Amino acid sequence: MKKDLIDFLNTDLQFVKGVGPVLASKFQEVLGGRRVLDFLLHKPAYVRPREITDSVMNVTAGDVITIQLHIKSHKKGGVFRGRRAPTQIICNDKLGAPVTIQFFNSNFLDYWLKKLPVGEWRIVSGKLEFNNNGGAIISHPEFIECIENAAKIPTIQSVYPSTEGLTQKNFANVRDQVFYALSNKLSPGYDEENVVRFFDALRTVHFPQSAGDLLPQSDAMMRLAYDELFAHQVAIAITRKQRINVKNHRPIREKKYDLIERFYSELPFDLTGAQKRVIDEIFEDMKKPVPMMRLVQGDVGSGKTIVALAASINMAERGAQTVLMAPTDTLAQQHFAKLKPLCDKIGIICDVLTGRDKGRDRNEKLISLKSGRTRLVVGTHALFSSDVEYKDLGLIIVDEQHRFGVDQREAIRKKGINPDMLALSATPIPRTLSMTIYGDMDISILNEKPAGRLPIKTTKLPISRVNDLISRLSLQIKNGAKIFWVCPLVKESETLDLMAAQERYEFLKKYFPDTGLVHGKMDKKQRDKTMAQFSDSNSKIRILVSTTVIEVGIDVPSASIIVIENAERFGLAALHQLRGRVGRGQTQSFCILLYGNSVSEDGIKRLSVLCETDDGFLIAEQDLMMRGVGELLGTKQSGWIAYEFVDYREHRDLFKLAARDARELDVPSEWANDLMFIFNRENRARA
Ligand code: ADP
Ligand code: MG
Repeated sequence: MKKDLIDFLNTDLQFVKGVGPVLASKFQEVLGGRRVLDFLLHKPAYVRPREITDSVMNVTAGDVITIQLHIKSHKKGGVFRGRRAPTQIICNDKLGAPVTIQFFNSNFLDYWLKKLPVGEWRIVSGKLEFNNNGGAIISHPEFIECIENAAKIPTIQSVYPSTEGLTQKNFANVRDQVFYALSNKLSPGYDEENVVRFFDALRTVHFPQSAGDLLPQSDAMMRLAYDELFAHQVAIAITRKQRINVKNHRPIREKKYDLIERFYSELPFDLTGAQKRVIDEIFEDMKKPVPMMRLVQGDVGSGKTIVALAASINMAERGAQTVLMAPTDTLAQQHFAKLKPLCDKIGIICDVLTGRDKGRDRNEKLISLKSGRTRLVVGTHALFSSDVEYKDLGLIIVDEQHRFGVDQREAIRKKGINPDMLALSATPIPRTLSMTIYGDMDISILNEKPAGRLPIKTTKLPISRVNDLISRLSLQIKNGAKIFWVCPLVKESETLDLMAAQERYEFLKKYFPDTGLVHGKMDKKQRDKTMAQFSDSNSKIRILVSTTVIEVGIDVPSASIIVIENAERFGLAALHQLRGRVGRGQTQSFCILLYGNSVSEDGIKRLSVLCETDDGFLIAEQDLMMRGVGELLGTKQSGWIAYEFVDYREHRDLFKLAARDARELDVPSEWANDLMFIFNRENRARA
């Protein structure tokens, strides 16, 4: 792109006529940035027709109408008894029904009045409202034209996603000026064809001639979506190349001990074929002089932890250290409890470090890490506190990796010298998506569950039948069952979540005195104690009520029933995760999805998906179709992939195309660089 054009795209919106600093900030709220470019990337949500209506009689309040009006009189506004009254123009429509046009403190009042002379007919377009007496009112109409000029009123209006204090007129104003300026800059003779065509497509989207122009399949939208995907793919390809080029910086470590065979012989079960294959892939990576960047995707219960342990043993054999990061304290403790005995057997020192470690105890742990004695440390973000030092951090394993932000992963990476990275994810992602999102990682898939697992029987039940459920559960408890009871996310508020859980706990206690409760705000010791009691094979606690703290990774193989309340409020992928807390032992497991009274038909349909399948990939696909990608991955990562023009449902083929084209590009072309500039959201934040 020519410099002059780039400068224009970088212009702050406040310098556009009629905008100024206040509106520019409003625009920033909506656009995520305040450059002309940010505006261009913000497309109208839909269009609405402006057909000429004969009368206001059958119009619904709030509709934008275009109507022919006969002007009867002007009623000047002003301040009366301390209250501001609008200036009103009293009119009749063609059928004689009264319509009032009104203006509040307009600086251009005389101008408006001149445009609406008494005794004449005019075509007026604007939003219709009704006052308390049922009178039809149009405030600040968007268009006023003489009958001869009716054609000047566009028959279709594009509507931009907006916020309070920012009108569609503000959008139209900026749009008109920006495209006017653009057409001068790109006037015939501009010799970069890609640039011209790209902005042409943008123009089509900003000035749609019909609703079809905004559909994902329209030529303009396809072009923009492809360009956007391509920009992202080129960026990923570059990152990938940089990674492969950091040769030699990673210490090559020779094998000093022989632990892995011993580890295999100590395992109480045989590894699945998939586990063996993935472990091989990891070991191959770890031999290379380039740092490993691998993502292991495996459905809940596919046995990712053992794979992670094998990797850490492989590192320990070479005398270096591994950290295993878990998203919650509970999960870290649990990993530790499971891994420690196995490590003990083969003589690897394993430790745990979380926010709860304080004082002398913590100090000792830090010393052991610094000296290199501790070879495997499990923990939470406490692992990358500034005072934690490692002797030789060779491998970083991130469990439930979508729970961590990119910056957190970077923070821990800095603790070593180009350490290997291994990410574990239980959110299976359709292939097209993972290619785009994790394009800079190699992917291994654990597509096999340990033998002998029975599929979980899943049913849905309205909350009104909770009493039936209680009697069924008491039977099961008599037969020795253990039950998770998950309470809903009430809002984004831990306190409210907690109240719901507490209430449910009191309720269940009436039927089952041996009910336990865990939640995020509980004293950690108490929580551990309750969890341990529940896990214990002779446990007294038969039902464990919890907020969603048990969502990730908790492993209690003897639990065989999970009840999820207000299941309709969870995403499918999250429900599938929760459900994965059972079905880990040899007995038949059950999942009961309780839904509230206000559930929608769609909500029920979503729950049915879970009742019918336990294939995590299929479920993720459905979730993606129904709720979009942000929901599937959580907000932390969706930043990169909050595409402006791409529609996951409709543009699948473009994903592949863009990825292939980007890979074939040896050195990014000038246009590819332009596109990366255009679509890079970081530029947006910085501007
Ligand atoms: P996830 O992939 O959900 O993290 P885990 O690693 O927690 O799964 O494993 C789930 C359970 O399956 C654990 O109790 C684990 O010990 C057990 N497990 C893992 N691999 C096997 C295997 N090959 N055979 C039998 N059980 C296994
Ligand atoms: Mg796990």
